[in-house]
Amino acid sequence: MDLMGKELFEKIREEKKSGKFLVAQIAPAMRVSIGEEFGLPAGTETTGKLISLLKSLGFDEVIDTSFGADAIIYIEAKEFAKMLESGKGNFPFFNSCCVGWREYAGKRHPEIMPQISNIVTPMMMAGSIAKLFFSKEWKVNPENMTVVGIMPCTLKKHETVFKMPNGLRYVDYVVTTRELGDWARQEKLDLNEMEEGKMTEISVPSKDGVIFGTTGGITEALITSIADYLGEKKEVLELRKNENLREYKFKIGKYELDVAVVYGYPALEKLLEKIKQGSKYHFVEVMQCMYGCVGGPGQPIPKEKDAMLKRSEALRKIADESKEKTPMNLKAIRMLDPSFFEHLALKGTSRCFAYFSGKNE
Ligand code: SF4
Repeated sequence: MDLMGKELFEKIREEKKSGKFLVAQIAPAMRVSIGEEFGLPAGTETTGKLISLLKSLGFDEVIDTSFGADAIIYIEAKEFAKMLESGKGNFPFFNSCCVGWREYAGKRHPEIMPQISNIVTPMMMAGSIAKLFFSKEWKVNPENMTVVGIMPCTLKKHETVFKMPNGLRYVDYVVTTRELGDWARQEKLDLNEMEEGKMTEISVPSKDGVIFGTTGGITEALITSIADYLGEKKEVLELRKNENLREYKFKIGKYELDVAVVYGYPALEKLLEKIKQGSKYHFVEVMQCMYGCVGGPGQPIPKEKDAMLKRSEALRKIADESKEKTPMNLKAIRMLDPSFFEHLALKGTSRCFAYFSGKNE
C-alpha cells in the first residue's frame, strides 16, 4: 500500500511505539535537496544534519542507500566483465535501478525486459543488507526491524510490496524528501538547528555508489568498476554532462564499449528507434527524471531556475570526496556472503519484473 503524508508518519510512529528497531536509509539524491525544504539553496549538502534530524524523529540507525548501489555495481561489473570475456552477452544491457523506467519498460517495451539488469534496486538491496547483515552488528532480530527509505521518488513506494524469500519486506515504508520536510515541520524540528550526525560506519559507500543519484552516474560506476575488476584504473569524467541523450565509446584493456545515457522518455524512444535501425550499444543507462534522481518527483519543488543542475553538481562533488572510488575494495562489501548476491538478490528481481509486467506471483 502506498502510504503517504500524515497517515504514513503515524504508521512509523506506531512501529516505534510497538518496540520496532527503526532504520532509515537515505538515498544519494535527497541529501543535496532536503535543505531546500528548510530554506537552504539547492545543492547544499546536509548529510550530517539529516542524520540528526532522522534520529530526532525516532530512528535508531541511519544507513546510506548508496551502499546498496555499491553492492549492485559490485555484482554487475563482475557479470559484465564476464560477458565481455566470454563474448556472450545479450547487449545492450540496461540498468534496473530506476523504478519509473522499469515500470515503463514492463508496460511499453516488454520485449526489452530480458535485457534489463537482473538485480534489485539500491533501496531494496540496502534494505535487505540491513535486515540480513547489519542486524547482526546491531544485535537486532530482523523481524523486529522496520526499514524506511528516505527517497527522492514517489514511485519507490511501489517497491514496498516486495518480500525477500524469508518473507520479510526489503523495505517497509518510503518517505519522500518533501514528506520528510512536512514530517519535521509537524514535529517542530528544523534541519538548520541540527548537529552534524554520523552515518553508521558499516554503510559508508564508495564514489561509485554515491554518483548513482544523477545522470551518467550509473554508467560512470559501471565503467570504473569494470576497469577496477579487470585491474585497470579509469576516470570517465566526460560522462558528467547533462544532455538527455549522450553516446560514448570507452576502451578498457582490449575491450571497446559503446554506451548511451538517457533520461526522460522522449530521449529514450529516440534511442530505442536508433537501436531498431541498427545502432549497437553494450550498455544503456535509463533514468526517468530530469538529470536522474536529483530531479525525482518526491524532491522539493525547485525555487531556483537551475536547482536540478546544482543538486547534480553537488552530488558529483560529494562522490569525489569518497575515500574508496569503487566498491571492489569496500570492507563492508567483502563481509557480505557471496551466496546472498547470487541467490537472494537475483530471485528478488525476477519477482519485481513479473510484477511490473502485470504477472505478479
Ligand atoms: S530517476 Fe526518477 S523515477 Fe527513476 S528512480 Fe530516480 S527519482 Fe525515481
